[in-house]
Amino acid sequence: MASVIERDLREQLLDRRRRLQTAIAEFEDTTHLVHLLQEVDAALERMNQGTYGLCEVCHESIEIEALMANPLVRVCLGDLTPDQQRALEDDLELASRIQAELLPQHHLSFDGWEISYYYEPAGPVSGDYCDVVKPEAADGDLLFLLGDISGKGVAASMLMAHLHAIFRSLISADLPVHRLVERANRIFGESTLSSYYATLVCGRASRSGAVEVCNAGHPAPLWMRGRQVLSIEATGLPVGLFASGQYSARRLQLAPGDSLFLYTDGLTEARNQADVEYGVERLSSLLRDCDSFSPQGLISACLEDLTAFRSGAPKTDDLTLMAIRRT
Ligand SMILES: [Zn+2]
Repeated sequence: MASVIERDLREQLLDRRRRLQTAIAEFEDTTHLVHLLQEVDAALERMNQGTYGLCEVCHESIEIEALMANPLVRVCLGDLTPDQQRALEDDLELASRIQAELLPQHHLSFDGWEISYYYEPAGPVSGDYCDVVKPEAADGDLLFLLGDISGKGVAASMLMAHLHAIFRSLISADLPVHRLVERANRIFGESTLSSYYATLVCGRASRSGAVEVCNAGHPAPLWMRGRQVLSIEATGLPVGLFASGQYSARRLQLAPGDSLFLYTDGLTEARNQADVEYGVERLSSLLRDCDSFSPQGLISACLEDLTAFRSGAPKTDDLTLMAIRRT
């Protein structure tokens, strides 16, 4: 296991140990607490012996995400009892519903702009981040965000919810997009395990057609300008990597009929049966032929092309697409 993760987990366990000891001194019925304390001590002992994170049944490594969710687990997901598996499935089902609640309206129009998106987790929950926020003020701008947390599964989905909350609370401060990302980067970095980070795009569209885009290490959004397709390259590192990270934004002027197309690497890194990557070239040439499409039409065209390309190869990553068109 990566030593940095083990160190974080050890700190968590030591913290829980202190809390349990305090509670045992104060509470009346402590049977359950004493049992938990024994489990924490056993986990710390396994760390000392170098056997922490190994399944007691099959002796393979336990999934890192399972350990992050519960540092006391001693068996891998495959070796859970049927009851434990059912409980886990129920939790995932609930997590999936909570995550779906965080997503914006699927199609949205706002003062000269139309937005649609598509969000598909690879498993029950996704590590992709997607949000669209209409302004509260009458003269405010539309904000759109799309990102990808490192890793997959439950841990990544929890960080997606965390990032969602951070941006939702910062948005009211009415900052330029690069300042928003700078602040989110500091907060996210301070409150997250150092091994996790997120790539993301944060954009602001005004009714004049002016768009500000800050790209924090994310695959380049594409600007469909007539039949030209231009890419908006990253101007900063992913958030969560360096607390003192600085960001800048690009300013674009979209003409009526122009669109922006955003995606996660679940699209461009999708592979077909021959192990060939979908790639940004294929996406650009597809978009070049769809210059008159609505956001919804662009997304459908892209999904159709991806299905044709994959020709039955399995999906392995979360997938999110977003299209924004100036009407
Ligand atoms: Zn096992």
